[in-house]
Amino acid sequence: MLSRPMEHSYSFSMRIDVGILGATGMVGQRYISLLAKHPWYRVAFVAASPASAGKRYGDAVTGRWRMHDTLSPEVANLVIADAADVGAARGRCSLVFSCLEMGKDEVAALELAWAAAGHPVVSNSSAHRWTEDVPMIIPEINHAHASLIETQRRNRGFGSGLVAVKPNCSLQSWITPVEALREAGFPVNRIMVTTFQAASGAGFPGVPSLDLIDNIIPLIGGEEEKTEREPLRILGRLQGEGITLEPNLVISASCNRVPVTDGHGAAVSLGFSGPKPSMEEVKRIFQGFRALPQEMGLPSAPAQPIVVREEIDRPQPARDRDAGGGMAVSVGRIRECPLLDLRFFGMSHNTIRGAAGGGILTAELLTKLGYIAESGATWTAELSLPASAIASMARARELVGCS
Ligand code: NAP
Repeated sequence: MLSRPMEHSYSFSMRIDVGILGATGMVGQRYISLLAKHPWYRVAFVAASPASAGKRYGDAVTGRWRMHDTLSPEVANLVIADAADVGAARGRCSLVFSCLEMGKDEVAALELAWAAAGHPVVSNSSAHRWTEDVPMIIPEINHAHASLIETQRRNRGFGSGLVAVKPNCSLQSWITPVEALREAGFPVNRIMVTTFQAASGAGFPGVPSLDLIDNIIPLIGGEEEKTEREPLRILGRLQGEGITLEPNLVISASCNRVPVTDGHGAAVSLGFSGPKPSMEEVKRIFQGFRALPQEMGLPSAPAQPIVVREEIDRPQPARDRDAGGGMAVSVGRIRECPLLDLRFFGMSHNTIRGAAGGGILTAELLTKLGYIAESGATWTAELSLPASAIASMARARELVGCS
């Protein structure tokens, strides 16, 4: 929760044309669906592999469009570019969402090339999650890490370009509740988590149906390592020109693929390093948690980031993944743990909060902080922001020459 005093006022009205690298995939489709009615961003550029390049987007996704809404003619008629052709986007978009599924080194190099060409890149890939000057952001938790972008731009000579990433999808089902407890004065130092991850988390076509129907696969390559390590950076402190990892937290994760279309679940047991809240207090803390995205009124921020389910058998993926437009974390079965201190079950939508929605919210935060701007953006008075945000915004505006 926030106690920072609010100072001064700014607001802006704008339209930013965006590009999607990996637009044909599971996450790319989700970006297109979520951005269809976005108040600031408009999809103007799509890119994918050389196999899709040159096709109309509508033709490329025929037979593999997984969203429930209908593709708009504007997007269906966009001609797909090769994601490696950075020059193809020149003058066509001022912000790029990256959701490529290719080798980690290739993605890392490609995202830096897009940033060097002046594009702010918000990525869903794991390629830069451990790059020292790249912030890995969950806007409700560590928005302060965004200022690493200033170091990044200095280090790499980026003008208006930048790379920011969002973390792994499965940890989103429980890390915001952990942050809410920390914020309320109950630091957590041990977490045991077992995840139940949806098929769409493996992209399209993903896990063969005959492997997954009537089955659980108790292995998702690399996922347990990400689940155990990434939270230490997200919850770490910005010090100088890097992030110091959270030193007082140990996580043990078991990650499983389950026959659910969308929605990652997590059974969590955790221990506190100091005093323990009562179960009623835990519920109040979760329900009352709000952070900077809610305070700023970012378009994709859920009004209530953590939804507490009181029913004894919730949350469930089919019923709860769309809470808060897919951007909220649902939590239930809050009870004492005989081994550690507290148990609960968390649930979030893996391709919305865990992927495209999380990327869009991060971009909204960076836009509002002034790291992403469009030359035609007009700045006027009215919206309250913390002084730190205004300082970052002024710096970024200076860098991009936005008046
Ligand atoms: P996906 O469905 O397999 O889509 C992959 C995309 O990458 C497609 O657009 C594909 O284009 C493109 N691509 C593949 N090879 C390429 C190449 N050589 N050059 C350029 N583009 C290439 O994967 P996804 O599930 O959307 O995941 C995308 C990224 O998001 C991954 O890094 C993944 O780890 C991450 N992520 C996924 C989820 C999730 O829930 N699915 C959640 C969080 C993060 P073509 O169609 O032309 O092959």
